[in-house]
Amino acid sequence: MSKDTVQDGVVVSMDYKLTVDGEVLDSSDEAGPLQFLAGYGNIIPGLEQEMMGMKIGESKDVVVQPEDGYGEFDEEAFMDVPRSEFPADMQLEEGLELHVTDEDGNHQAAYVSSFDDKSVSLDFNHPLAGAVLNFSVKVVGLREPTEEELDHGHVHEGGGHHH
Ligand code: ZN
Repeated sequence: MSKDTVQDGVVVSMDYKLTVDGEVLDSSDEAGPLQFLAGYGNIIPGLEQEMMGMKIGESKDVVVQPEDGYGEFDEEAFMDVPRSEFPADMQLEEGLELHVTDEDGNHQAAYVSSFDDKSVSLDFNHPLAGAVLNFSVKVVGLREPTEEELDHGHVHEGGGHHH
């Protein structure tokens, strides 16, 4: 069966541009089309949902609200950590991305919000939390995934993010 629309289990190549508050934050202009395996949560849900059923060559502007994007900004999602828990020679700076493991063993990204000699305030919000995301997308290719890609739930070509 040939698949000629975006649907679960199809590898989609798309040109895209992401604009937030009038500023272009990301686009396929430099890196080329983004590939993702539809239906596997490879891209944010609000965008994936709107792309279902699109054909090759079709373009669409999609506005994604925070709850369907990177979440609402959570004022409570901050944590103060003693400076002594970080390596003494570690260069801290505001906005620095850290990967931390919580008590339950979950890995999370956190960003240095502020710091002084005694303590470091970590922000667990995604940098785009609370943002309305304006996507401009164009489907430029559709193909069947390989068995391995289906098995892993993500694309192996072009993305460069295999793990
Ligand atoms: Zn893989």
